[in-house]
Amino acid sequence: MSATVINGKDLAQELRNNMKEEVSELKEKGIIPHLTVILVGDNPASKSYVNGKKKASEETGIVSDIIELPVSTTEEELLNLIKELNQDVSVHGILVQLPLPEHIKEEHIIETIIPSKDVDGFHPINIGRMMTGNDSLLPCTPYGIVTMLKSRNITIQGKHAVVIGRSNIVGKPVGQLLLNENATVTYCHSKTRNLKEHTTRADILIVAIGIPNVINRDHLKQDAVVIDVGINRTDNGSLTGDVDFESAKSKASYITPVPRGVGPMTIAMLLKNTIKAAKGLSIN
Ligand code: NDP
Repeated sequence: MSATVINGKDLAQELRNNMKEEVSELKEKGIIPHLTVILVGDNPASKSYVNGKKKASEETGIVSDIIELPVSTTEEELLNLIKELNQDVSVHGILVQLPLPEHIKEEHIIETIIPSKDVDGFHPINIGRMMTGNDSLLPCTPYGIVTMLKSRNITIQGKHAVVIGRSNIVGKPVGQLLLNENATVTYCHSKTRNLKEHTTRADILIVAIGIPNVINRDHLKQDAVVIDVGINRTDNGSLTGDVDFESAKSKASYITPVPRGVGPMTIAMLLKNTIKAAKGLSIN
């Protein structure tokens, strides 16, 4: 038996179609959801991500602008721009594309974005609210992963979820969201001993490492659900995940591909957060 592939691209399209209706309803009430993305420097991968976000926003009816700043921008200049956008009532979501040049401290930037416009869901207040189970803007990739599981009615409650990776943007928050959904969660990372001992006990395995094809069928429990977050560029320029897809597919019950897996869902959740932020402002 071969696993069912969860196509994130199709699911993201479906979500965007639903969001289009939500955006038109907001527009009828005079609220035009507006996302501002700031890009510092000319990292080609970041440029392409930012353009993807703009395109998806516009497809949904969300107004989106990209502010491109030179690599020489100082931290103070960037902080001042964010403070202006925080005050601008026409802007509902602010996203600063990471990574930033080394002379700018990411945490200073993240902590300056007002939490109600933090559509990436990285501000410590949003992370804290997520941890305490309160309403917040959720980090997009983890939110997309849980949405993918729910879209296939995959039971999370009572399941053993193993997360490989403990970054602040993927590993840690996805484990927390799964815990909020009543999974039993194990975190693994580069210092974990006997990785396979943990992964072979996973009903749901989330892989967010950033090394191509490190996980294969030998790491899996029979019929595990495998979510591959990794995005790695191969020598020929194509993208590949952290999971050896063909090998894992022969043992898993569900699996996500790379590309067309978690990536498009991350963008869809960014749009969802922007709409949520726009609705929030209308209430305040
Ligand atoms: P980080 O580099 O911040 O984190 C990688 C994690 O993997 C770390 O916790 C590290 O452990 C762990 N790790 C490294 N090597 C091993 C190993 N051999 N065994 C077990 N654990 C290991 O990466 P991110 O979390 O930011 O991203 C992970 C991947 O996901 C990347 O490929 C990235 O491109 C992709 N990504 C995809 C997104 C999407 O939308 N699909 C969004 C964001 C990221 P330690 O903490 O000990 O160093």
